Amino acid sequence: MNVSIRSFVVLLAMAPCIHAKAAACPDRPVETLQIRSSTLCLFIDDPTPSRRQLLRTWAERSANIVADYYGRFPAPLAVLRLDSMDGSGVGGGRTMNESGLVIHVSVGRDATSQVLSNDWVLVHEMVHLALPEVGRRHNWLAEGLAVYVEGIARAQYGNREIADVWAEDRRSMPMGLPREGEGGMDQTPTWGRTYWGGALYCLQAEIAIREQTGNRVGLQTALQAILVETGGYGFERDIDEVLRIGDAATGTRVLEDLYQQIKTAPQAPDLGSLWSRLGVPKDPKTQPFDDHAPLAAIRIAITAPRKS
Ligand SMILES: [Zn+2]
Repeated sequence: MNVSIRSFVVLLAMAPCIHAKAAACPDRPVETLQIRSSTLCLFIDDPTPSRRQLLRTWAERSANIVADYYGRFPAPLAVLRLDSMDGSGVGGGRTMNESGLVIHVSVGRDATSQVLSNDWVLVHEMVHLALPEVGRRHNWLAEGLAVYVEGIARAQYGNREIADVWAEDRRSMPMGLPREGEGGMDQTPTWGRTYWGGALYCLQAEIAIREQTGNRVGLQTALQAILVETGGYGFERDIDEVLRIGDAATGTRVLEDLYQQIKTAPQAPDLGSLWSRLGVPKDPKTQPFDDHAPLAAIRIAITAPRKS
């Protein structure tokens, strides 16, 4: 009973801090969104009320997808600037640390709620907030994580079909394999290696962590710990330190060992064998998954809906 009274007093004492953060948006945002204990300062250049409502819903849902995956939104305060462009799609996104964390995304003036519901860009950018800056040479880790986590987090939330996530992985991960003459991950800044080679590292790590822990924990546990212990994108950290933190959380050495294997030497795992061990068919959108495959339980656990 003493403990609960103390907790209540501590909570009361903390309340002004949380409120102070909410007041810290720069300039005057169109809206301030509370995502758990974080504040998202939303700037929208279009004054139309219906358009603002549409974009607000999208921003809030994307932030909740990322917060559910990480157990919290990955920054106490972030600015989100949504700029209009021609068309109906979602354009490029950028996440920057310019005296504060800022995400810029361009959105077509004719974008519908359906388009925004299927969007990957904003979740991808928000995932960038969860990893500290590890240096340009290791950009493959930042982009690979953003690519990999976007699909998994949206599937867990129910915002993306599980079959669609595996279909894209199966289709796109070959782009992450080294080409003739290419070196290790730290030496090859090509687009395919950076994005899909990085995502392949994440998938390999995910599987190895789950194999070594009896499918009890996965990459998600490592990434949550990295966020908590480093503070995420607003901070700079050495890549080895980041991977060590992730490994300590899962009680393995998977992230560090796999990095040592791929950092300076090209590595081309047999993807055909990987998909068949996971039970992922050639076309997951039209063919059934093989739930008797040796790694089927791991595949199912990766995208299982979160119990929230
Ligand atoms: Zn990115």
